Amino acid sequence: MTDHQMTPLDAWVPSGVDVTVPSMARTYDFLLGGGHNFAPDRELAARTEQLMPGAGKVARINRAFLGRAVRYLADRGVDQFLDIGSGIPTVGNVHEVAQRALPNARVLYVDKDPIAVAHSELMLTHNDNADILRADMRDPASILTSAQARRLLDLSRPIALLMVMMVHWVPDADDPHALIGRYRDALSAGSYLVLSHVTADQRQDQISDARNTIEQSRSADHLTPRTHAEVLCLFDGFDLVEPGLVGCGLWQPAGPGDLSDTNHELNAHIYAGVGRKP
Ligand code: SAM
Repeated sequence: MTDHQMTPLDAWVPSGVDVTVPSMARTYDFLLGGGHNFAPDRELAARTEQLMPGAGKVARINRAFLGRAVRYLADRGVDQFLDIGSGIPTVGNVHEVAQRALPNARVLYVDKDPIAVAHSELMLTHNDNADILRADMRDPASILTSAQARRLLDLSRPIALLMVMMVHWVPDADDPHALIGRYRDALSAGSYLVLSHVTADQRQDQISDARNTIEQSRSADHLTPRTHAEVLCLFDGFDLVEPGLVGCGLWQPAGPGDLSDTNHELNAHIYAGVGRKP
């Protein structure tokens, strides 16, 4: 039996999931040190780390940004979070960070990946204030009008819309700028957009090699790195809070674990920002 055939240990894999093709949710899980991944995911992660030394560290720097941004918002009283492209649960999930600061904070996770959804369901079994929806971010109406959104989120009050390390999986042909605009228009004033996004601005060579590797892996996902100006446009209609759109390690770092101080390039492979709808 090969590594990626089903064994009783893999009983957590929902039926119909093709584990012979890497998924970006599982590859990212492996880069973060998680256990919900298979050989093709691990091979893609290893190849990415080879082409882009420090890729695992970059994933952790992004994850740390997510935690800081959620704390920043909870400290300002934001108690509703819509986390789209939430991924496979790992350390410092949004509801954990938010509910530590505001015990009644409500979180709706959304992901298209069935394994991310199955594990989030397990994690949230006893949490009435958080839920997971399997949906594609390219269908804002189905997310915003879902039974879960209606139960958990009050769109007449400020919410935090999180799209962390996921919009680079939305190709230009699907017009992510217009899609984010549809979410923005549904949010009340005082809502926030938290977004991080892969860029090739620092290392065109490494990112295009990583992109080609993903293409060759038969993954259904296609990476679209974007420039600083292009990512900035995704915040149209939001006012960026300090320090603006910066490398994710440089967004209000709170301590040594938040960023790489040995290789500064690693802090800037992913742009991150938080914007407020006026
Ligand atoms: N947001 C988490 C973080 O930053 O730690 C997880 C990021 S993970 C790299 C990207 C996630 O986005 C994956 O779980 C993937 O399944 C999800 N994703 C990609 N495209 C998506 C789409 N069109 N709709 C919903 N989820 C999507």
